[in-house]
Amino acid sequence: MLTLHNPLHHLHQGRHEMFRGRLVPCHETPQRLDHVLAELQRRSLGPLRTPADDVEGLDAGLAQIHSPRYLHFIEHAWEEWIALDPLNAAQDALPSVWPAPGMRFDVLPDSFAARMGLFSFDAGTPLTAGSWAAAHAGAACAITAAREVASQRVRSAFALSRPPGHHAGADFFGGYCFLNNAALAAQALRDGGARRVAVLDVDYHHGNGTQAIFYERSDVLTVSVHGDPRTEYPFFLGHADERGAGAGEGCNLNLPLPRGTGFVRWREALHCGLAAIRAFGADTLVVSLGVDTFEGDPISGFLLRGPDYLQVGHDIASAKLPTVFVFEGGYAVDEVGMNTVNVLEGFGA
Ligand SMILES: [Zn+2]
Repeated sequence: MLTLHNPLHHLHQGRHEMFRGRLVPCHETPQRLDHVLAELQRRSLGPLRTPADDVEGLDAGLAQIHSPRYLHFIEHAWEEWIALDPLNAAQDALPSVWPAPGMRFDVLPDSFAARMGLFSFDAGTPLTAGSWAAAHAGAACAITAAREVASQRVRSAFALSRPPGHHAGADFFGGYCFLNNAALAAQALRDGGARRVAVLDVDYHHGNGTQAIFYERSDVLTVSVHGDPRTEYPFFLGHADERGAGAGEGCNLNLPLPRGTGFVRWREALHCGLAAIRAFGADTLVVSLGVDTFEGDPISGFLLRGPDYLQVGHDIASAKLPTVFVFEGGYAVDEVGMNTVNVLEGFGA
């Protein structure tokens, strides 16, 4: 297993997120990645690399997945934020107003606050001084990992980066995510010669951004096993009847499970997802690897235990596909390293 890790991830360090009417400390912290990296080194699971500073075609790759106006906004948002008031440098930017259905999404407001809302869907994702730099370097990890696999230099690779990506859509951030690393990897695999790519999202939360990006495409199957959106974030997408649209009809599979689900039932859903990937005829796999399915996760509700993740990796390996893993959620900080690396070890890294 080749790991591409993001040396700039720590530049994104949110101070607060909105929760039940209060600003609370962010769950998505740099320590998460540090623990995974330390565990990877401890178990010697394969080479560790950082991507080149100037990954060729990176911005073109970003533009295949995200809209130009969104990329421009995220890249320059911090400059705008402190231009409003130099004192803003001491606090993160959070959105507080959003367009509702029936309002205009096509007109770009001049107001910074309005554009923060236009390009986001929650108040849990602080935009900080280093968010763009960290997310941009993370995208380089994902695309490089995909290219290594597409070129068959390695059979599997792990893009170890934060902020995570699977909640970010073509033109919005949210759920701690700014750039959709799994989607970037899937597209890079297609560009590298893969014909049919499957994205398997095993994070506790539905991968709404990834689903939305590929919803009308027939060359990328999206499968997500997650907490039922009737009660679980991101609430407004992730139901079982969302099967894709247009050319992508039948190319999206959601497997929502109730809060409190344990490993036996969760694993049945995973096997259902893997069967769909086989039936689709995927030749390459991207795994959105979140381990917030862990029983001790502070913001999630499944009951997987540490050793279960070895089995998860083993089961994913049964697909026998070249695979790119992309790091997503997992907020039980002390266990996130062990659980994540268990999946990779079980996969047979
Ligand atoms: Zn999650």
